[in-house]
Amino acid sequence: MTSLMDGPLTDLFSARAANIKQSAVRDVFEISMRPGLISLAGGNPYLQSLPLEKLGATAAAIIAEQGLEALQYGGGQGTLELREQICQVMAAEGILDADPDNVVITAGSQSAQDVAAKVFCDPGDVVLVEDPTYVGALNTFEAYQVEVIPVAVDGDGLVPEALRAQLARLRAAGKRVKLLYTIPNFNNPSGAMLAEDRRQVVIDICREEHVLILEDNPYGLLKFDGEPLAPLRARDSEQVLYLGSFSKIFAPGLRIGWALVPTALKQRFYLASEAVTLCPPSFNQMLVSAYLRDYDWLGQVAHYRSLYRERCETMLEALDEHMPAGVSWNRPSGGFFIWLTLPEGIDTYPLLHEGIEAGVVFVPGAAFTGAEHSNSLRLAFSAVNSESIREGVRRLAPVLAKAISA
Ligand code: PMP
Repeated sequence: MTSLMDGPLTDLFSARAANIKQSAVRDVFEISMRPGLISLAGGNPYLQSLPLEKLGATAAAIIAEQGLEALQYGGGQGTLELREQICQVMAAEGILDADPDNVVITAGSQSAQDVAAKVFCDPGDVVLVEDPTYVGALNTFEAYQVEVIPVAVDGDGLVPEALRAQLARLRAAGKRVKLLYTIPNFNNPSGAMLAEDRRQVVIDICREEHVLILEDNPYGLLKFDGEPLAPLRARDSEQVLYLGSFSKIFAPGLRIGWALVPTALKQRFYLASEAVTLCPPSFNQMLVSAYLRDYDWLGQVAHYRSLYRERCETMLEALDEHMPAGVSWNRPSGGFFIWLTLPEGIDTYPLLHEGIEAGVVFVPGAAFTGAEHSNSLRLAFSAVNSESIREGVRRLAPVLAKAISA
């Protein structure tokens, strides 16, 4: 990788730019394109099961029938039609009181995270995150010179006592804590889910401590069995700024996500979003609207749930069969990821190269929240078929066994 700070005019970069890093996950994705490798690294959705031909006809019809609108600038908040439909999607996710007026459509939920960091965080402010958490969010917060502080997680997600203790410690140190960034449903990378009986407790703590919850729920509908677990936003419309996305239930390449913003905060949020993109992409919004209107999108979600459940089960069976003693992992009930932990002291980063030699790629744990997770790694089951999952795990096992016995 070339340095991001060497060469002509790089001295003009802002102090903020010095915090913008190339994520380790990105390096891994580049490697995983090599032929012959099985990538258990990328959390890409399995788009092969979308009705591509029909979508092509829909796209053509949009251009033919509404081309001037589809190719023109639109409103900064997004079209009313799609914002209304997004409220229906959120109803399926468990939020029944969303108002289209509080919805801001963004270029993926990633850009909504960026807007949130921009409007709430000054340099030195603290954002609390689950430990581990989504690397894309970490990169966003770091770019705004925010101090990211991890909060402990156990098998039931964020630990309320740890959240309380961390807040007390930070207050005592004179820090300003602005946000709790949380993925309560099927965390990326850990697959963990916040237990139902902790949800209100987390909200109450944040309310008492005057901390806004930034809830990220791209995997919420992808619970393998039963109804989706209602997000935190379903319990509190004031304390929670909710982020949603079509990336995991439809098409990440369209870059359509959204924020459901508490009424008191929405105007600033909307203006900040508009300042970045002017408006979300008109054509893509129309394509998503047509998909939600004319296709059985909930049927597609049901299909994805059973497909990913099957792939997850396959990976769990392969792990049970091949992994050496000393490796442990969780059994997720939704989403895309399984989180493996090796004995302490083993760093999975150098093992990546041995994995590549053996023909399999994963994401080393240190990519997520730093050194504390260097003995963990993330496997994704979403984008690969059962055969590749079995073969990938079979290739990985001796690499881990060798590291454990060394
Ligand atoms: N949040 C989480 C937890 C994610 O895993 C991802 C994508 N991997 C995103 C946000 C970004 O989603 P989008 O494509 O909507 O920007």
